[in-house]
Formats: sequence, C-alpha cells, structure tokens
Amino acid sequence: MLLKNKKIIIFGLANKYSIAAGIAKSMINQGATLALAYQNERLLKNIKPIAEDLGIDLLVECDVSSDESIDNCFMAIGKYWNNFDGLVHSIGFAPADQLEGNFVDVTTREGFNIAHEISSYSFTALAKAAKSMLNDSSALLTLSYLGSVQTLPNYNVMGLAKASLEANTRFLAASMGKDGVRVNAISAGPIKTLAASGVKNFRKMLSQHSERAPLGRTVTTEEVGNAAAFLCSDYASGITGEITYVDAGFNIAAMPLIEVD
Ligand code: NAD
Repeated sequence: MLLKNKKIIIFGLANKYSIAAGIAKSMINQGATLALAYQNERLLKNIKPIAEDLGIDLLVECDVSSDESIDNCFMAIGKYWNNFDGLVHSIGFAPADQLEGNFVDVTTREGFNIAHEISSYSFTALAKAAKSMLNDSSALLTLSYLGSVQTLPNYNVMGLAKASLEANTRFLAASMGKDGVRVNAISAGPIKTLAASGVKNFRKMLSQHSERAPLGRTVTTEEVGNAAAFLCSDYASGITGEITYVDAGFNIAAMPLIEVD
C-alpha cells in the first residue's frame, strides 16, 4: 500500500489502452484515492466504465490548450479536495502530418508550436495551477519517450517536444523543491495506444524494440503504472528531477545481443 491516504489526479486517460489507465490501476492497487481529468466530453463514454471498475468517482474535464479549462478543472477538484498529493501528466499530441515523413520536410511552425504547447508547456501550466493545492510531500509526474535524446523515424517534432518536457521536469523540480514538491518523468518504452498509433510505422518500432531490449520484449502499461506509483509515493522521497526509463532496458543497448561462438 505505497499510496495509502494519497490523493492523486491523473490527466490523460483516453481509453483502456492508455498508459494513464495502467497508472490508475496500479495506483488504486497501492491504496490511492484518484481523480481523473479527461480532455473532452467525447471521451467520457470510454472513461466512465474504467472509473466505475476502479471505484473512482471524481471525473473532471480539462483541455490543457485552454487556461480557462485548466482553471475550471482545479476549481471543480477544489470542491472535493482541499489539497492533494500527486499529479500525473500523461498527455501528448502533435498533428498527424508531423509524424510521418522526413523531419526537415514535414515539420511546420504550427505543428512545432502545437506539439510543444500540448506535450510540454501543459505540464508547467498544470503545475502552476495545482501549486496552491499541493502539500510539502506532493509529487508530479510526466511521461516521456526516448525520442527526446535519440532520433528515430517519424517521431519527428515529438522528439523535440519530449526533450523540452524532460528539461521542464528538471526546471519544475528545481523551482518547486523548496516547497517539498518532487517532479519526475518516466521514459516509457513503446506501447500500442491511441497516441502511439499516430506515429507512422509504429508496429515496426514495437518489433525492433523487442529485438534490441535486454529483456527481449516491450513493456505493459501496468509496468509503467507500478513505477509511477513508486515515484509518487513517499518511498521515492529522495528522488526529484529524474527521468526513469521503464523500457525493458532498450535505452542502454546500442545493438541487439548477437550470439558469438
Ligand atoms: P493516449 O492516446 O492514450 O493518451 C494521450 C492523452 O493525451 C489522451 O488521453 C488525450 O486525451 C490527451 N490529450 C491530448 N491533447 C490534449 C489536450 N489538449 N488536453 C487534454 N488532454 C489531451 O496515449 P498514451 O500512449 O497513453 O500517451 C500518454 C503519454 O505517454 C503521452 O505523453 C505519450 O507521449 C507518452 N508516451 C507514450 C508511449 C507509447 O509508446 N504509447 C511511450 C512513451 C511515452
């Protein structure tokens, strides 16, 4: 029960395949009380049964592209919770035309701005809006990907946005540490979700991952969820500003292990 008596709000649950769904499941298993923030009304039909299954009553709408929506979300949360112990940002977006083709040819000013606003700035925006409701052992967590530090086909401007998000994690950690607030990121291996299927040839990424990763496989949303539960718990009280890889070891292997006689 790593998260007993902890109140945590999770942003970015779209459906049962979302990484946020694995995080919610693991956090509930560890005794947390959760609230879910969803992007728009359209997603509610997916989210309601998941929330019911997990015994989560508090569902609020939040479109992170709008300051008004963010303010309304925290006002709605404030009606039920005076403060809370954790916030998970599991949100990323770039227009589809940015995630297909040669980086220098397909990247546009608009695509660049949208990817950075929704995938990185929104973490700062949520931290800012949450600040007055956090306590001196609260934890913030976001989700990154290896494209922040290495190139790969089609991930394109999302790689730049993830690099920004990881710097954002460090700057938020430095900025909020004096209040006892910790800020971390998980860099997850590729998982078939709605957002991931927007990246062209994502299936090939999955098979290449399994070939090179020391564990010889991809990871599950529950495995990411378990690491998230730890990082948001007091067991991680000495960890802040870190990017933790949950990727079956893929990032440490430059080549697949070849059997040598
Ligand atoms: P997902 O599609 O299930 O989740 C993405 C979420 O972002 C959705 O819930 C969507 O509603 C939300 N979102 C997008 N625009 C928004 C907006 N304007 N306001 C509010 N919410 C908005 O996919 P996922 O793979 O679970 O993605 C979650 C996070 O994990 C993303 O940051 C993604 O980049 C990251 N990640 C994914 C993988 C992967 O392979 N799936 C790997 C590493 C990191």
